[in-house]
Amino acid sequence: MITAVLGGGQLARMLALAAAPLGIRTRFLDPSPDAVAGHVAEQITAAYDDKDALKRLADGAEVCTFEFENVPVEATEWLAAHANVRPHPRALEVGQDRLAEKELFQQIGVRVADFRAASTCAELHEAVDAVGAPCIIKTRRLGYDGRGQARLQPGETLSADIDAAWQELTEGYDHGLIVEGMVPFDRELSVIAVRSTRGEVACYPLVENEHSDGILRRSRAPAPNLTDDVQANANDFAATLLQELDYVGVLTVELFDVGGHLLANEMAPRVHNSGHWTIEGSECSQFENHIRAVHGLPLGSTAMRWGHSATMINLIGEMPNRERALSMPGVHLHDYGKAPRKNRKLGHATVVGADQAAIDESAARLLG
Ligand code: AMP
Repeated sequence: MITAVLGGGQLARMLALAAAPLGIRTRFLDPSPDAVAGHVAEQITAAYDDKDALKRLADGAEVCTFEFENVPVEATEWLAAHANVRPHPRALEVGQDRLAEKELFQQIGVRVADFRAASTCAELHEAVDAVGAPCIIKTRRLGYDGRGQARLQPGETLSADIDAAWQELTEGYDHGLIVEGMVPFDRELSVIAVRSTRGEVACYPLVENEHSDGILRRSRAPAPNLTDDVQANANDFAATLLQELDYVGVLTVELFDVGGHLLANEMAPRVHNSGHWTIEGSECSQFENHIRAVHGLPLGSTAMRWGHSATMINLIGEMPNRERALSMPGVHLHDYGKAPRKNRKLGHATVVGADQAAIDESAARLLG
């Protein structure tokens, strides 16, 4: 069996590694000849709109999927006319547009921050006025890891700040903006959920995520001080969304926890960085469950392995000393094989064990 994947970064690489024990090979398409999935899977180097390459990608594959949300929807639609594409291209379309995402959340009764869309500078002023400062302006499309955003504070310079934000965010970009009220959250959580072709849904324990400079640094699972109510609420969000999209595969919803009440921030129609801990920390990883789901196989358990907790640290910009990391008990190192570069995710480490203090200590050492 073959899974075809659009995109060949570390997510495709980890999908391929999870598929192999199931007897499933992975073939992927990526415009970069250095795509790191190429170390473990069959690579096609071509642009996403290259029809001949898409044909070769799908040839003999049971199913086509994607590893990140910025692959062109047209590529998945073209594939869907010739092959099985899971999840459905609509999920990708919604996931690419923060406005469509927020509207969908609202429509299915999932709470979100107050928001307004703006496609001109005048509309941006009106939107900020309606939402109120402090607020956060985001590009509707192509933003990730905190890029394509501006934060505004109330005060005398607000009007000038809006003009400056418009200038900055629309330079070389014309897909519109969205203004969101600043949510006074206590913490950020994410729920990783999977839905099978038969409509079964399973959710992993909620994860608590810490960012710096807009990039995920640490994920802890299960999120500390988690109540059954909060987990049930998140599971409900995810299940409703998966059903609405008739989704097959893994989907992630990023959430704000405000005093035990959840607001949805955004969704990722794919496996997610905050779910990397599931490789060692859960009975069946997000990667294996995505592969199982898209191939129409039964889902695996999303329970924590041995009831323990897990902490994932992103390794950004430079890798830690390999010998030192590997000599720490409970530490599982993942090196994506990428060339070091500032702010680049080069790998991650997951720390598992029964002793929370020991996990926290190892995680702190890895964070440096
Ligand atoms: P995003 O690209 O939407 O994930 O935003 C990046 C980060 O900005 C999030 O992880 C939050 O820390 C913060 N953020 C985004 N939207 C809001 C909001 N409406 N209120 C407060 N913080 C936000």
